[in-house]
Amino acid sequence: MILIKNVDLYSPEKKGIKDIFIAGNKIVDIQDNITMDLENVKKIEGNNLIATPGLIDSHVHILGGGGEGGFHKRTPGIKLSNVLKAGVTTLVGCLGTDGIARSMESLVAKAKSLKHYGLSVYLYSGSYQLPPTTLTGDIMKDIMFIDEIIGAGEVAISDHRSSQPSFNELKKFVSNVRRAGILSDKCGIVNFHLGDSKKCLKPINNLVENTEIPITQFLPTHINRNPELFKEGIKFAKKGGYIDFTTSTTKKFLELGEVEAPLAIKKSLEAGVSINHLTMTSDGQGSLPEFDENGNLIGMSIGTSISLLKALKKAIIKYNISIENALKTVTLNPANILSLKKKGEIKINKDADIVLFNRDFTIKYVISNGSLMIKNSKILKKGIFE
Ligand code: ZN
Repeated sequence: MILIKNVDLYSPEKKGIKDIFIAGNKIVDIQDNITMDLENVKKIEGNNLIATPGLIDSHVHILGGGGEGGFHKRTPGIKLSNVLKAGVTTLVGCLGTDGIARSMESLVAKAKSLKHYGLSVYLYSGSYQLPPTTLTGDIMKDIMFIDEIIGAGEVAISDHRSSQPSFNELKKFVSNVRRAGILSDKCGIVNFHLGDSKKCLKPINNLVENTEIPITQFLPTHINRNPELFKEGIKFAKKGGYIDFTTSTTKKFLELGEVEAPLAIKKSLEAGVSINHLTMTSDGQGSLPEFDENGNLIGMSIGTSISLLKALKKAIIKYNISIENALKTVTLNPANILSLKKKGEIKINKDADIVLFNRDFTIKYVISNGSLMIKNSKILKKGIFE
């Protein structure tokens, strides 16, 4: 049991100074003043601290990713401590470019290893290619019968690395994923990787216009990777779609026209997009390959979890986005979009995933599923081989 006293609560809505009581892995009470004299209650003095929901990073290559340029360029898997340092308590893992040398079996195993330490981990089944890489041999069975798997992705479109899926292939795939989601009370969403092709969101728009599949069944990511795609993304969000911005970047990408994620949030809001349709994800441990105009690989770096926290801070401090709105993009919105019903908010009966920030948005405490993971800015839990 943990009692947090006198903390400035953003649920992500601003609630003012509150006490929060946690028992087991749940938030069980929130009031102006909670007093108790029970033994075994850890007290945390929240004066001058801000409480926010644990961040949700909903596009992470937990197993590592990439491999463009050869096997020695496969990126390594994620470390628990790097997730915690970013204030992240919920991850959605995915495979990525390589659905052959990397498998769903390994991805599920990695998810379970992170869950062992107290994180919440969900997965997308599949990879860049269609037909998809699956665990059971059937994308619908993966979603319906594997607890961690909530949807599919990242399926690549408008990219020279995609499997160039046809309209009919995409139509069948998205409808199967959606149906499996309906049958198992999961989101059944398809997370689409968007590349730099001039086609931008055309493959998704074609599906929205020519099928009965709702626009909310698609979650396109990397929408901030170039100005043209960003423009199309704003149109898509104004039609009712969700769009995701990637926070991991390089100086070179920004020079070439990538819109940095917190700026993309600001510009989207200015263009009239509802905050509820915007998310940010880190693309952590994914490769960040750089290609020339002919598709030749000319450089390589790696995505990081911490970029999500940096983007959140920048949105608030540099771009003057309200704390509530900036927080929504990495807490409540992904929870709503992905139907993670116990996540994304500090409310009674929700999972006890809480970050306590200093006023400058440096992390002081992280609580995940009711367990203290960071205390006084010191990491308490590390992976066994860290
Ligand atoms: Zn991607």
